[in-house]
Amino acid sequence: MNPLLPWQADAWAALMARARADRLPHALLFSGLAGIGKGEFARRLAAGLLCESPAADGGPCGRCHACGMLAVGSHPDFREIAPEEAGKAIAVDVIRGVNEFFTLTSQYGGRQVVIIHPAEAMNRNAANSLLKTLEEPTPGALLILLSSRPSQLLPTIRSRCQRIDFPLPPATSAAAWLAEQLPAEADTGALLALAEGAPLAALELHQEGGLATRAALMQAWAGLLQGQAEPTAVAAEWQRWGLTRSLPWLMSWVADLIRLKSAVGDAAISNRDLAGQLQKLAERVDLRALYLFLDQLTEYRRQAGSNLNELLALEDLMIAWRRCARRP
Ligand SMILES: [Zn+2]
Repeated sequence: MNPLLPWQADAWAALMARARADRLPHALLFSGLAGIGKGEFARRLAAGLLCESPAADGGPCGRCHACGMLAVGSHPDFREIAPEEAGKAIAVDVIRGVNEFFTLTSQYGGRQVVIIHPAEAMNRNAANSLLKTLEEPTPGALLILLSSRPSQLLPTIRSRCQRIDFPLPPATSAAAWLAEQLPAEADTGALLALAEGAPLAALELHQEGGLATRAALMQAWAGLLQGQAEPTAVAAEWQRWGLTRSLPWLMSWVADLIRLKSAVGDAAISNRDLAGQLQKLAERVDLRALYLFLDQLTEYRRQAGSNLNELLALEDLMIAWRRCARRP
């Protein structure tokens, strides 16, 4: 069983005090940036509540029958709901299944726990269907919604959940934890900066070769401006990394280009490891076109995660990027 992440100790103690006093609500909304451990926390909470002999701090024992079933994903009183594919919606049928699950009697006479993540992936019908469970909770039911964008949830959903905000872990704590997970030569600082300070996101980035991918994508992107590649080919290369993950990188690079073009003297850019490439690009692009491009990126980021065709969106963006080139 996963240990408690070091920056979650206070949140855990507070929630466990409420559980011991039998004051847990039937629905919780964990909000906070993706990659800070909301899911790990929620799974640990579920495990602690279902465990037959929990530890003194309320955590799961990891040895009992319930813990064993949870570990292999076969506990009948626990469900975890996520989109079939990242970026896709959670459909109404799946949420109807959750409602039915809660109408069943608990198989082991304890709680029934369902985690839904990310909650904003529920489409409108799915969210409306979930209201039924939220309005008429069965005894022992605990629904845990995870969201990095709680403002996208229906207000009626938000108002029926008790919200717990998960802040970004302190930088020193995040760096120490990440260093323990990675080989000594890994660039924890660069990984954490790219993951906006979210340690689990930084770890995932490392496992997927994120830094090397970023360097390759930068090269393809720069090549486009120099006429060395076609937008469709570059878009296909970016699509392998996914639109949701590509947009923050593109936005951050364009913001740096705007800084470089606007600044007098040294600009304080965020992608300092790419400073050389960005400086060269800045000389080749038009400032006004960059602002328009940034607006377009912002609009796509707003739409990302809905039913957007990622490849078409990236092609559109790569064509727009090529238009940022200054006329000779
Ligand atoms: Zn146990």
